[in-house]
Amino acid sequence: MSVILAADIGGTSCKLGIFDEEINLIEKWEIPTDISEEGSHILPNVHDSFRSKEESLGFKVEESLGAGLGMPGPVDFEKGILNGCINLNIKGKSSISTIFHELSGTAAIVDNDANVAALGEQSKGAGHGHSEVVMITLGTGVGGGVISGGSLIHGTGGSGGEIGHIKVDFDGRFQCNCGKRGCLETVASATGMVNLAGYHAEDYEHSVLSAAIKEGTLTSKAIMDAAMKEDPLAEFVVEEAARYLAVAMSSISVITNPGYFIFGGGVSRAGEYLTDKVRKHYDTLIFPPAAEDMEIVMAELGNDAGMYGAARLVKQYLIKK
Ligand code: ZN
Repeated sequence: MSVILAADIGGTSCKLGIFDEEINLIEKWEIPTDISEEGSHILPNVHDSFRSKEESLGFKVEESLGAGLGMPGPVDFEKGILNGCINLNIKGKSSISTIFHELSGTAAIVDNDANVAALGEQSKGAGHGHSEVVMITLGTGVGGGVISGGSLIHGTGGSGGEIGHIKVDFDGRFQCNCGKRGCLETVASATGMVNLAGYHAEDYEHSVLSAAIKEGTLTSKAIMDAAMKEDPLAEFVVEEAARYLAVAMSSISVITNPGYFIFGGGVSRAGEYLTDKVRKHYDTLIFPPAAEDMEIVMAELGNDAGMYGAARLVKQYLIKK
């Protein structure tokens, strides 16, 4: 049987899947990620776990169509190199595709987790196979993946599609993890919403969020919950985050003119409450022709998006046409 091996490797667990050539899932499971000894056990463990399924599913790893790997760090896609990864305890460059190929005897391809999630949603989820799709993942940070002409945008050094670092807060009020100020991530992620609530707390003394802000325990979920109960500070924060997202999206729209913006990640669980606000601001900002035939939708594959995308990497980039 010709199968595709797919792994979405995270800091605490690896989601593994076996797919057929048409990206139909045959079996999926999870293993814990062992990040000890500078992450040197991660790929051998993933490989061993694929091997453990050979007999029951009737395939051979070395005869598979290839292995797709998603990893939570910056990747040089052309060379298959991970440029260090804090979450996996990997320091310095690591030649992921070569290492996995030597372990397994099958070809391997690697990309960062945000890109593979975008590819999964584009091909098998909310993107319905549309060739122009942008995924925005709202979690602790703002992750993203841009697909244009059916292909992931990587750019010269892999920074293409890093939409969390589009500058939108021109006052640069908050420092970003990248070292710069004013990035989308600083005002629209879970962290960004907490930043905004703290910044504007004095203007809304009677907010239900006040105590948590003073204690430093405020979460984006508390902000969302309070906003839906019409707390003025929380409503203001969500409106601002939505406006900043719309600013970034309107810029992206005149570059790739996407048919779908797909929202995923924890913050996006607010669903239409958030996307309705984003759409309202987007429509006031956007170059009018780019707004036509553009839909804002919620991700459909949940935690499986990265695994589907990793399988898709193999089909799209590894299997010789
Ligand atoms: Zn940044």
